Parts: sequence; C-alpha cells; structure tokens
Amino acid sequence: MLLRHTTSAVKERSALTVNPAKTCQPVGAMYAALGIHGCLPHSHGSQGCCSYHRSTLTRHYKEPVMASTSSFTEGASVFGGQANLLQAVDTIFSIYDPEIIAVHSTCLSETIGDDLGQIINKARDEGKVPLGKHVIYASTPSYVGSHVTGYANMLEGIVKYFAEKTDEKKRQVNLLSGWVEPSDMRELKRIAKLMKISAVLAPDTSDVLDTPMTGKFEMYPKGGTTIPELVSMGDSMKTIGMGSWATRSAAVMLDNKCKVPFEITDIPVGLSATDRFIQALANAGRVSIPESINEERGRLVDVITDMHQYLYGKRVAVFGDPDNIIPLVEFLVDIDMKPVYVVSGTPGKAFEKRMEAILAERVPEAKYKNGPQADMFLMHQWIKENPVDLIIGNTYGKYISRDEKIPFVRMGFPILDRVGHSYFPTIGYMGGIRILEKILGALMDNIDATAKEESFELTM
Ligand code: SF4
Repeated sequence: MLLRHTTSAVKERSALTVNPAKTCQPVGAMYAALGIHGCLPHSHGSQGCCSYHRSTLTRHYKEPVMASTSSFTEGASVFGGQANLLQAVDTIFSIYDPEIIAVHSTCLSETIGDDLGQIINKARDEGKVPLGKHVIYASTPSYVGSHVTGYANMLEGIVKYFAEKTDEKKRQVNLLSGWVEPSDMRELKRIAKLMKISAVLAPDTSDVLDTPMTGKFEMYPKGGTTIPELVSMGDSMKTIGMGSWATRSAAVMLDNKCKVPFEITDIPVGLSATDRFIQALANAGRVSIPESINEERGRLVDVITDMHQYLYGKRVAVFGDPDNIIPLVEFLVDIDMKPVYVVSGTPGKAFEKRMEAILAERVPEAKYKNGPQADMFLMHQWIKENPVDLIIGNTYGKYISRDEKIPFVRMGFPILDRVGHSYFPTIGYMGGIRILEKILGALMDNIDATAKEESFELTM
C-alpha cells in the first residue's frame, strides 16, 4: 500500500498539489523540437533541468534523446545566462552541426529574465550562426501551464520562424499535430495518403523517436518535418490543428502571418472525434471520403458491437492531457462506459465546458477538474469514496491501480514501464480498435484473475 496515506475525505485545497497529473513545460518544447528534421533542442538553464527532460523523453520513447544545455552555474544564475547561450550556439554548430537549434527557457532563466530573442540576435550579429543554419526559440517557464503548454509554445515558435507566404498557393493542407506518439504521426500521414491529400505534418516525430536498430548512431535521424516543408506551410490551403491546447496558438500564428485559414479539431481518438477529423480533412483537401476509410470505421463499429456487453456501464477514472482525454472520454461515453472521474493537471478554461457537454446528460454523476489541484491525489480520493472498474492514464496510475486492485490501461505521457505506444497508433479508427483491445484486455484479465473456479470460462 504505497499510497496508504491517501484519505477518502476530500478537503478543498487552494495551493497544494500532490502527485501532479502533468510535467514541466520544457519537456513539451523538447518533444516538439525533435519533430523537426535536423533539429537539436537546447535547454537554457541548469544541467539538472536538461537531464530531467531528456531522461523523461528517453524513458517514454526508449530512444536516446539528444539535447544540449546552457549549463547554468552560480554566476549565470546571478548575472544572467547570455554568455552561456552565446558560447553554446558557437559550440553546438561547430561540434554537433544541426540544421536548427531550438532553444527553450527554464524556470531559472525565466526568473532571471533572460531575453532569448535578444541573445539569439546577438549571436547572429556576432557571426555565431553559420549561413543557412537556424536558431529558433520558445519561452517555457515551468511555473505556469504544463508540458502541453511548452509543446504549444515551441510549435508556435517553429511556425512563426519558418512559414513563408509567396504568391503561389499550394494544393496542400497543414496538419498541426497535438502531442501524440510517433506511431500516431505515422498513422496521420497514412490517413492523409489514403484520402489522396497532400499534407505537411508538423511536428512529426515518426522516424525520429521510433527508429530501427541499424547498428549505426544517427545524431539526426531521417524523420521530422523538413525546413522546405515548414516554409511551404505559409502557402497551404488550410491548417487543421489537432487539439486546442497544443496547436491553437500555432494555427493562429500561421493565419496572422500567412493568411492560412484554420480549423481546430480534437485529436482523432475514438469514433466521434475521428468522424469529425476525417470530415474536416476531406473538406480542407476538397476530396470525398474513400471507401477504405469507411471500411476502417465499420471495423471499429463491429468491435464495439461485438464486445458491448463487457463495456456497458463500467465506471472509469481517466487522467492525462486535455487534448488527449477529451476525445477519449467522448469515446468511452460512445461505447456506453461511464467515465465518472476525469482530471488533468493542465489548466485551461475550455476543459470544464467540454466535459460538461460530453458528460452532463449521459454520465450526470461524473466529477471532473483540471488545473493545479486536479492531481492524482484527488482522483485517488474520489476512487476511495466510490470505486471504479478501470483506470486509464499514464504510468503514474499504477500506484492507485495496485493499492485499490483496479485494472489499469496505460495511455498518455509518460509511459515508463511498458512498450508499444511508439509503434501501435491509438488515433483514427484503427487506433480506436487498439484502445478497445487494451480496455477489453485489462477487463477480461481481471475477470480471469478473480473468477471463482466454477465460473472460470475458456471462451469469453
Ligand atoms: S520545473 Fe523548472 S526547475 Fe524543474 S526541471 Fe522543469 S524547468 Fe527545471
């Protein structure tokens, strides 16, 4: 009972967060930057921050995550980190030779008040940025928002720097990806190809964080959105941003800078969100939906129908990032499960409205909350008050699952103790089948493990 001190009585808290359902901004900035080809993320702060962010990403993706750091010590902490960053830009281009350095700030450099734009301009003026190379940046103070905010800020920084509008409109669609797995990004490209839509996906971590073993170390793997692709986004017909938290600011930036109209959809998780995404994609690309996509949808509906008896009425607790869990909760409602508890550590006013719209009528007993006090501790207290049949969330849910003996499905970030998420998508209709497989697997394993001998069944 590792969490034996969690009490069932919920007390209103205004300042304290216990076991947050989020991590810090630069982790997201680093992940977004890794989805750009030839890009080296750079952490402007102390070595400890950079090590933490790298190790979190490395443990989740099971790939070595490269990033550099301004290596603040006492001097930089007092007098500012300008000298460190100027030296870093010089050293990185001479030794590691990336196409792009993507600098993000940390709590410390933000508190000092370092102006990243000014320092990077100084590096350019001093000739520390070689011709044809680029330095981009995002402000990512970790005492506001979450890793999702950091991802959004870096994505906005990428678009702001690279997208260019020319006189030649391109018959292509921009896909701004919310925080999903490399497998999901690969799936997005497969769906666009099936629909015969020319799409630029940014960022794109497929072939960066799911690379094959070749025996050869590649500092910059072949994947990632390329610079010409990023530049061309300014001439696209439309932008679709998947996930309001992660992509809205970048979509607005593209519209303001290059007059590319945008639509924000949910990340296509489950049936309804994928329906809306496919329709939005078809409209943006001015194509009709091919039969092959309809068939994939039909397969998902078939699995839901076949397995409905195991899903109906099951109480579920969900935690994670808003862009990911809003469509997931909607999917759970679609398949007649009851997502009774939903928490997200990422703040944002739209969360409660979306939850209310999805849950008010069909799961009126549901409790949901987001922001600093919407933590794992609160979710555990709710579960203690009235248990659930299933928990869905990242690896940190395993403590509650173990203490309360509740089946657990790992989804979201980070997943530190299982594999598969980098390789098997959970978006689109096929991804919906994968989610169902995981949910049904957990529920049925629990039935097998707890059934009395006389009711232990071979066939389920
Ligand atoms: S919360 Fe701030 S100090 Fe801590 S690792 Fe993140 S950026 Fe560094």
